[in-house]
Amino acid sequence: ADWLHVDVMDGHFVPNLTIGAPVVKCLREVTDLPLDCHLMISEPLRYVPDFLEAGADTITFHVEAESDVGETIAAIKAGGARAGLAIKPNTEVEAALPYLDQLDMVLVMTVEPGFGGQSYMDMSAKLRRLVEARGERALDLQVDGGLNPETVKHAAEAGANVIVAGSAVFKAPDSTAAIRALREGAAGARAS
Ligand code: ZN
Repeated sequence: ADWLHVDVMDGHFVPNLTIGAPVVKCLREVTDLPLDCHLMISEPLRYVPDFLEAGADTITFHVEAESDVGETIAAIKAGGARAGLAIKPNTEVEAALPYLDQLDMVLVMTVEPGFGGQSYMDMSAKLRRLVEARGERALDLQVDGGLNPETVKHAAEAGANVIVAGSAVFKAPDSTAAIRALREGAAGARAS
């Protein structure tokens, strides 16, 4: 894998409760891979310092959360991390557009956030709109949820260049082969 994606859930923004900054800190001690922290929490601004301190390389939070979006991006960037903004399947892509100048990444959710193992939802129209709006900016487009060697083709074709996979890797008999298949699926789609 190129990065490790860490799904942080607070039992409030989403019903599940997962892991927090202390686990990110432990991961930081055992890997040099970039730590990509996806905060599915109600008050991301309040916890930005904890994740910076824990060693997060990218901190992505939801436009639907309660914190001020501009202020949260500024706090992440001031701490030296990359800032990402996530949008849920039912949120219009327009919600992210005013912030493109400040962001390093937009995360287009391809499932409802909160649980693993869901089926991929086609968000190609949002991705294409972001490709168009990004212009010459160095902005990564990430997809998260239901990605496998087949669905990754749709996402990559529409412009996604950061692919998050959970079940497709961890439930595969051979995780290394699964990552290779995802990579090949994405590369094939981009070439065509
Ligand atoms: Zn995620």
